[in-house]
Amino acid sequence: MASVRSDLAPDTLAVAAGRPPREHDAPINPPLVLTTTYHETRAPEPGDRIYARGSNPTWDPFEEALAALEGADLPALVFGSGLGAAAAALSLVPPGGAVVMPRHAYAGSLGLAADLAAQGRFELVQVDIADTAAVLAALTALAARLDAGSVMLWLESPTNPMLEVAELGVLTAAAHAAGAVVVADNTFNTPIVHRPLEAGADVVLHSVTKWLAGHSDVVLGALVTSDAGLRERLLAHRTLYGAIAGPFEVWLALRGLRTLALRMERSQGTAASLALRLADHPAVRRVRYPGLPSDPGHERAAAQFNGFGGIVSIELDDVATADALVAAVRLWLPATSLGGVESLIERRRRQPAEPLTVPEALVRLSVGIENPEDLWADLDQALRRAAGRDGGL
Ligand SMILES: *Cc1c(COP(=O)(O)O)cnc(C)c1O
Repeated sequence: MASVRSDLAPDTLAVAAGRPPREHDAPINPPLVLTTTYHETRAPEPGDRIYARGSNPTWDPFEEALAALEGADLPALVFGSGLGAAAAALSLVPPGGAVVMPRHAYAGSLGLAADLAAQGRFELVQVDIADTAAVLAALTALAARLDAGSVMLWLESPTNPMLEVAELGVLTAAAHAAGAVVVADNTFNTPIVHRPLEAGADVVLHSVTKWLAGHSDVVLGALVTSDAGLRERLLAHRTLYGAIAGPFEVWLALRGLRTLALRMERSQGTAASLALRLADHPAVRRVRYPGLPSDPGHERAAAQFNGFGGIVSIELDDVATADALVAAVRLWLPATSLGGVESLIERRRRQPAEPLTVPEALVRLSVGIENPEDLWADLDQALRRAAGRDGGL
């Protein structure tokens, strides 16, 4: 790959990083390489590709571009899914250690950590990640009885789907003082909005499935770190446990990454305007969006982030109203997942795995890039119909 200057802005890096070298007649885009194995004409040496569970040329430009975006010194590691990446990250906790996780982290991450905890791999401590004092107390209590290096602090900020905002700098400093490794799930923010490595995280996790790839057509994950020792262990986990990515998916993800900044700008702009209007809507009981000045996470998000993201959660009066809303939209798509060009709507507690402290009538909106007025008109008509459903509308 050709190297790209790291002082460039993120929106430029998304376009310029991960390109083949400038050579006459060479393509400007990396090729899709479909192979399981590589010619060997001499004895293998470190860094040779050898077999495609270990390495694929189509991964390299994506891994380089994501590292550039997150401000990492080393190439990212792409995985077959976000949870595949999460499993590798959790493998860094030594047996008998502990993981501190937000009680409203992504349900799959919580489910994976709970499964490993039930097997006796480590202890799982769930915290309100917005309550800095509670997180610090949990870290101090664990540091007092466990060996240094055996605790992991798992950050997700804003949380999915409650959109709580953590005090990242304070938490990473305290975690390091307690000898803990910090993993930050940056799926919601993307590096356009926030770069957790700069706030002290050791490893950044992405469900590439969401905003990075951005078109709801691939499932992928990634880890990013500037720590060579950690990266070596994560790479070894990927190769040994085999949660590798298909090259075509990674090729599509790099294509999606090129427009990340534009898509985020549009989604965030629309999310902010929808959140304001939803806050005034008689059928909406509460809006959760860090961009709203009245939101409990607003000050922290404004101080830490370069934007407020494209996810808005709203609470309706009851489950029936929430379900009626989801049933009444015509443009928004009723579906799980998030971060694609198309706007999605979902009552999260439909999913049995969702934490029970997420309100039953909470509906998560993933704001896409359609015309903002079309999105509002559809939500507004659906809210009216949902709220007035007993009136025979
Ligand atoms: C979807 C998601 C994941 C899991 O990623 P997959 O690609 O679905 O395996 C992890 N964290 C967050 C915040 C997510 O939204």
